[in-house]
Amino acid sequence: MSKFNNERRTFLKNGRGLFFTSVAVSSLPMSFLLSGCDSPFYHITYKNWAQDIQVGGVLAAKVTSLEDLESVAKWALENGHFIKAFGSMHNWSPLILSKDEPKDKALLLDMSQFNHLEMLESHADYGVVKAGCGVQSEDLYSFLANQPSGKPDIPGYAFSNTPAPGNLSLAGMLSIGGHGTKVSYNDSKENESLNGSISNNVLSVTALVWDGSKYALRTFHRDEEDGDLFLVALGATIILEATLYVLPNYNLRCQSFTDVH
Ligand SMILES: Cc1cc2nc3c(=O)[nH]c(=O)nc-3n(C[C@H](O)[C@H](O)[C@H](O)COP(=O)(O)OP(=O)(O)OC[C@H]3O[C@@H](n4cnc5c(N)ncnc54)[C@H](O)[C@@H]3O)c2cc1C
Repeated sequence: MSKFNNERRTFLKNGRGLFFTSVAVSSLPMSFLLSGCDSPFYHITYKNWAQDIQVGGVLAAKVTSLEDLESVAKWALENGHFIKAFGSMHNWSPLILSKDEPKDKALLLDMSQFNHLEMLESHADYGVVKAGCGVQSEDLYSFLANQPSGKPDIPGYAFSNTPAPGNLSLAGMLSIGGHGTKVSYNDSKENESLNGSISNNVLSVTALVWDGSKYALRTFHRDEEDGDLFLVALGATIILEATLYVLPNYNLRCQSFTDVH
């Protein structure tokens, strides 16, 4: 979590509610150890931000490569486990695990290693960024703002609006329709369809899907059939990365009124 967010959010809660517990290798399923995956496996105590969901001893894997992502999914399928990806656990919902869900069949995937960022297109009036599912929101915004291109007077790129916390993963935001606040105003020349959630900006999503014989990565473009299914999927998918349309950077004016009665 960035320093920015620690300062901003500590008064609310200790944001990242996930505690890793080291375990003896022998307590992991033997088939796991023989699966050939290089990604580390362990048991965790899952705790959400609101701390109303706390589940101990849940099997988890920190996925470190594309090959392992497919292998882990294959292992889960063959061994009767369901998989759920997690980001920063900065939530109050039962989307990842509920209190009552049997935990012995869950395999949680830590996707934080996929935090790559690449500017694909840089124009004066828009940009296109490719971002890994695990990139933290504040890192994404900083990367965009620090781009040298864009408008000469205010370089860089930005979103029309964003969720408030800086420690959300990109996939976490996309999964729940993460958004800030934006309204159209008189004489605005801005594209109103970008005033919605971060998912509105998605041009393509690469997800782990069943290809008819095995789990494999596939990129869905926004205009193709099924492309929309991955925009706000409430954790029912495994997203690897997305490309997003971004706006030229801009300054905001903050005006305080102190004479309201
Ligand atoms: C204090 C606080 C303030 C908030 N403020 C805002 C706000 O201003 N605006 C707003 O819109 N929301 C806000 N939220 C909600 C927040 O945006 C969501 O809870 C968000 O999903 C958290 O992202 P995360 O990275 O922590 O994801 P997690 O909580 O870890 O996961 C959330 C969902 O995303 C799924 N997911 C995670 N990674 C992947 C992946 N790689 N592939 C597929 N699915 C995945 C999970 O399975 C789960 O369903 C706030 C939450 C808190 C606790």
